[in-house]
Amino acid sequence: MHDVLIIGSGLGGLECGVLLARQGLRTLVLEGSHQLGGCMQSFRRGGLHYDTGLHYVGGLAPGQAMHKAFEQLGLLTLPWQQMDEDFDHVIIAGRHFAFHQGYEAFAEGLAKDFPHQREALQSYVHRLQNITDADMDVCAYDYLHQVFSDELLLNVVSAAAMKTELRRESLPLFNFAHTCSSYIESSWRLRGDGNLLVNKLVSIIREAGGEVRTNSKVLRLTETDGRITKATCADGTSYEAGYFISDIHPAVLCQLLEDCPSVRKAFRRRMMAAENTCGMFTVQLSIKPGALRYFAHNVFVYDKPNVWTMAEKNDPVKGVMISARAPEDGTDTLLQIDLLTPMLWDECKAWEDTKVGCRGNGYKELCKKKVEQCITLAEQYIPGLHNMVEQCYTSTPLTYRDYLGSPKGSAFGMRKDCRTPMLSFHSVGTPLPNLLLTGQNLILPGIEGVTMTAFETCRKITQDYAR
Ligand SMILES: Cc1cc2nc3c(=O)[nH]c(=O)nc-3n(C[C@H](O)[C@H](O)[C@H](O)COP(=O)(O)OP(=O)(O)OC[C@H]3O[C@@H](n4cnc5c(N)ncnc54)[C@H](O)[C@@H]3O)c2cc1C
Repeated sequence: MHDVLIIGSGLGGLECGVLLARQGLRTLVLEGSHQLGGCMQSFRRGGLHYDTGLHYVGGLAPGQAMHKAFEQLGLLTLPWQQMDEDFDHVIIAGRHFAFHQGYEAFAEGLAKDFPHQREALQSYVHRLQNITDADMDVCAYDYLHQVFSDELLLNVVSAAAMKTELRRESLPLFNFAHTCSSYIESSWRLRGDGNLLVNKLVSIIREAGGEVRTNSKVLRLTETDGRITKATCADGTSYEAGYFISDIHPAVLCQLLEDCPSVRKAFRRRMMAAENTCGMFTVQLSIKPGALRYFAHNVFVYDKPNVWTMAEKNDPVKGVMISARAPEDGTDTLLQIDLLTPMLWDECKAWEDTKVGCRGNGYKELCKKKVEQCITLAEQYIPGLHNMVEQCYTSTPLTYRDYLGSPKGSAFGMRKDCRTPMLSFHSVGTPLPNLLLTGQNLILPGIEGVTMTAFETCRKITQDYAR
């Protein structure tokens, strides 16, 4: 019998595990796959570690959004490296722009390229610092049109938000602003792979007396007298607990709740019908030693100044994020680069019934074509990149579906829609008083969003215990 059972060892699940185990609650984390960490996990190929969903983190300097949270979680001791002062570069239609750390520096830097928009930039950074829940029903695209009269600048400030889904009609200002602002406060990379972060959280849970188990896919939750009492795994093992936290996609959770009478149809329908954000196509390159020097900034390259249309159609790659892996030996020898671009489920749907490694030539051709497109775009920043590549690995939304169980390979979970904030933002509560939610699907994706939500989930449980 545990006090708390957590389903899924993504960042949110592990963070909840740390916060609750440290309070003395008997905590058990069950992970369905053989590897811990969800999107934070890394994998090894040819002696190098590649990350799944960790490229940079914002706001880790003292006094900033994430500093206190990471301090409480024991993550500040990891080897974080502050990125270049110009942390994000944007290349649009051949023109090059830089984002500087610090709100003033950010606005002033872009004002050099767009002097006629200096006041608009000041107003923009002021708004970023004053985002509230009321901005959940404000359309980010409309707001940007109100503040900027220069269409190119509007696209430049939006370009790095490829990390969310740049949908014109639906993306709330709340999500857009959170995706941009903590990185402007300060931007950091881990010198090492995501497993450092995952292993740190797991070791804290274990030191505090908690348990973390892999290969423990939860298939069913049992309700008794209006509370969840038991989780049953694929191997038939059952675990009892007082509280249950789900760090998995809420639509997948609904499948586990099929036998629970208190879960009303309305809750199920809402979760099952929710739309998901697009997936990502990731190209992970190992680079010939000595071919390239490390650069501690990201680069976002787009052919045309229409970054907002990207997720709407099955367009060929229009934009690519280039993220270099910080060398672990302290030198400036660059060995790895990731290229990322949004990819729709429809592009790989034809292979949805196939397994990893058995997808055949059509799928291989699709990946090859997309790799070419990504590298060609990236060559606008790294001329000759084609010739520097030693090895190349790819992943599509199918890969994310197969490894993380994310429906339709969605990269950032359930879509938030400024037109229906009451339906698309979700609280941590459920119809069952001892079943809580956490993770990227509820309010905000990314390390900042998931961490803030984990604190909220745990607050509910500790309040109950205090009563
Ligand atoms: C390509 C990409 C790049 C990204 N880059 C960044 C970045 O640079 N900075 C940033 O801040 N964020 C980034 N993110 C976002 C960030 O990685 C995610 O928002 C975050 O890691 C999601 O955590 P989560 O807690 O929601 O869980 P998830 O990562 O979704 O993990 C859920 C876990 O639950 C497990 N599971 C599923 N079903 C079951 C079951 N039935 N039983 C038991 N376990 C189950 C899964 O195997 C998985 O391990 C990126 C994401 C992607 C996809």
